Amino acid sequence: MDSQQLMELSKKHMWLPFTQMTDYERDPLIIESADGVILKDIDGKEYLDGYSSLWLNVHGHSKKELNDAIKEQLDKIAHSTLLGAANVPSILLAKKLVDIAPSDLTRVFYSDSGATAVEIAVKMAYQYWENKGIKGKTKFVTLSNGYHGDTVGTMSVGSIELYHKVYTSLLFDALVIPYPVIYRHSSQDEEVVKEESIQKLRKLFEERHEEIAGMTVEPIMQGAGGMNVMPKGYLKEVEQLCREFNILLIADEVATGFGRTGKMFSVEHEDVKPDLMTVAKGLTGGYLPVAATLATEEIYNAFYGEYSEMKTFFHGHSYTGNQLGCAVALANLEIFEKENLVEKTNEKAKYITELLEEVSELENVGDVRQHGLMCGIELVEDKKTKQSFPSEQRIGYHATLKMRELSMLTRPVGRDTIVFMPPLTTTKEQLKEMVDILKQGIILVTESLDDALIK
Ligand SMILES: *Cc1c(COP(=O)(O)O)cnc(C)c1O
Repeated sequence: MDSQQLMELSKKHMWLPFTQMTDYERDPLIIESADGVILKDIDGKEYLDGYSSLWLNVHGHSKKELNDAIKEQLDKIAHSTLLGAANVPSILLAKKLVDIAPSDLTRVFYSDSGATAVEIAVKMAYQYWENKGIKGKTKFVTLSNGYHGDTVGTMSVGSIELYHKVYTSLLFDALVIPYPVIYRHSSQDEEVVKEESIQKLRKLFEERHEEIAGMTVEPIMQGAGGMNVMPKGYLKEVEQLCREFNILLIADEVATGFGRTGKMFSVEHEDVKPDLMTVAKGLTGGYLPVAATLATEEIYNAFYGEYSEMKTFFHGHSYTGNQLGCAVALANLEIFEKENLVEKTNEKAKYITELLEEVSELENVGDVRQHGLMCGIELVEDKKTKQSFPSEQRIGYHATLKMRELSMLTRPVGRDTIVFMPPLTTTKEQLKEMVDILKQGIILVTESLDDALIK
């Protein structure tokens, strides 16, 4: 089929996620192949993968060891169910995950996406108290602009108005504490920003801890809500408050896990030990949909007993623990060790910090936020007052379209915040090339500001 026919068919039959299809019709894109950090579309045009194919990819595309791991597994079996029966790669991967995770997490419950991993954590936390015979702990606390996925349960513990407002009456109520956003706070003092949010959390816990089952957080770096870095020490204080008030801490490492922020898991930055931890995106190196919810033995034990005690966790998905996915995840984690990847990521992160300095000097760049290889560049109309562009202008979206023209793919989040999250193994030369495009795209879009952009 030629590329013209594919284009037409894609417009006729596809319905893409998080996409207004009129946007797609104007600017369609069909990827056909990729090698390393370069993706190629059906017309042969190449693009740098500036967002790790939506925050997933680790070692670049078509990584030989990962391809081989799948081929090798494929000759044995592609999939068998995990309902009542384990399989070999899922066991080996569980052992590996427990080895690298914070020390108290000893149990691995598989699923197939970040959303399902969080959904499971929420249900586990809820049922944990039920199984323990402690009544009334049924509510969840979350942070404003939190994102944990798009299922009804994960939207309920999420708090992004743009995505969630329309479903309000469908969702269960979560208790929302303002995220400590340093850039948008009247004080630029991290300590002040941290304390303000922590005091609100303490007050909420003091008043309502008997109703609260758990709290969900995106550790250190809030992703989809705008790439917001937590003030230093914030996460640790959240952990301490959860302990003090007997509330389960659910760390959503779906975006931040696997070296992305400069540690294997982001909670390690503040030596935080969650009760439940979710992983997905980078787990398979960006290859296949495998996710996991890690739990402590304490939580596991609350579900353990004879069937007649009715403590079973009745939850599962058809493809849970898929062998091909677990095999490639194992190979992915082996490369982390062999190539000492997390350490190397920190060197790359330093280089990115240097590169982004020039970007932060641009007239319409309000803030550059970075932790490891997770970066957000917030565009504003007025740098001094931090006034955002009118949302109808969709300046973030149009900036990323310019970047696409210049041969790099990424997407915006939050209020006109451009995501820059290259695969961990991107070379320095490629990083430079990517940041040059980032800069050029921002300059082009802010220079060409006119009504034509408004759609
Ligand atoms: C992407 C993301 C999710 C959802 O993962 P999916 O695999 O897209 O369902 C959940 N939590 C966080 C923090 C994420 O960034």
